[in-house]
Amino acid sequence: MKKLVLLGATGSIGIQTIDVVHQHPDLFSLEAVSAGRNIQALRKILKENHIPHACVQREEDCLALQEEFPDVCWHWGDEGLKELSALEGYDLLVNALVGFAGFIPTLTGIESGHDVALANKETLVCGGALIYDALKKHGRSLYPIDSEHSAIFQALQGNRKKDVKRLIITASGGAFRNLGRDELTNVTAAQALAHPNWSMGAKITIDSATMMNKGFEVTEAHWLFDIDYDHIDVIMHDESVVHSMVEYIDHSIIAQMGAPDMRLPIQYALTWPDRYPLMQEEPLDLAKIATLHFKNPDFKRFPLLALAYEAGRKGGNLSAVMNAANEVANLAFREGRIPFLAIEDIVAGAVENAPFKELKTVYDVCEADEFGRSYAEEQLRRLAA
Ligand code: NAD
Ligand code: MG
Repeated sequence: MKKLVLLGATGSIGIQTIDVVHQHPDLFSLEAVSAGRNIQALRKILKENHIPHACVQREEDCLALQEEFPDVCWHWGDEGLKELSALEGYDLLVNALVGFAGFIPTLTGIESGHDVALANKETLVCGGALIYDALKKHGRSLYPIDSEHSAIFQALQGNRKKDVKRLIITASGGAFRNLGRDELTNVTAAQALAHPNWSMGAKITIDSATMMNKGFEVTEAHWLFDIDYDHIDVIMHDESVVHSMVEYIDHSIIAQMGAPDMRLPIQYALTWPDRYPLMQEEPLDLAKIATLHFKNPDFKRFPLLALAYEAGRKGGNLSAVMNAANEVANLAFREGRIPFLAIEDIVAGAVENAPFKELKTVYDVCEADEFGRSYAEEQLRRLAA
């Protein structure tokens, strides 16, 4: 029986993680869950499961819920997330938070001796170097939940790392993949939120449309698999059937395929190296799909993909700055405050204007995040004026 601490339980990945837990009540139990502000969804989770610890973002929600669920040990805010990650006696931290808010809880989990199943890619984009060192120092493991990284992780099983030639990350291209740059001027958040293949949280769906998400995934792969940026490629793949690939030195390419259903990579991260049955509404039917398409990405069409490579190669604080500016710009676009293409300008401007600094401490990571955020907010004010 594995005891799980699940951060971001009310989100897209969080809910699917609970579904996996419910499919295997003999394998998993929930020791703690966290939610942001979606209290209704948290109530439902607490009523359906016996969970000793819970955390919410705001103190007022915490106080109200304490009365309603007196048997639960309550936590709140960023400190509360750290407290859950640092709990004793659980087996795996599942981080399904969105954004920079996930970084410190991941680090805390590792430093307090826990393995982590990671959906929160921003953890590695912002503080990959610190996470990498902490994993080594504390002898812990990171299991990828992101479907591309799970595919690579699966394609690496039984092979030697020294034989890897390159990683090939597949990309759907998001909601606007068939539009040229001149057609992007007036696209709306509602249009961007209709992803062709996956149903996900709002932030990552916009990141898919800008391909910032794919850029993040390149950085995520760099830190997860300890491989340099020259040996990580992206390939466009319309159908989201091949979730990613590993090419070996003999040119053999091993791919992992499956239906676009996040419960599969979630479950594998929770059960590795074992596999268990998984109930899926529509398992992959290759004959029905019949044709798979691949093509090289156009870096001019998707400049944020190029920017992520550039920031990653230069290293230091630049990826963290990029992430922070993107969080602000992504939200502003979702709220209808800026046009789609302004996201790119704001994120690129933040990286361009950031004074370079190596990341040595948590403070350095937070400082980089702060810079990216205030740069982006300043641009929002300028655009609104
Ligand atoms: P989501 O927005 O649906 O859920 C995020 C969760 O985090 C919610 O429970 C929310 O309440 C909580 N949260 C948000 N901000 C918080 C804060 N400041 N403090 C405390 N809690 C907070 O997001 P998602 O789509 O489930 O994505 C989660 C992570 O997984 C992201 O990093 C995303 O990139 C990654 N990911 C998601 C998918 C997907 O299919 N959804 C696929 C691959 C990777
Ligand atoms: Mg992904």
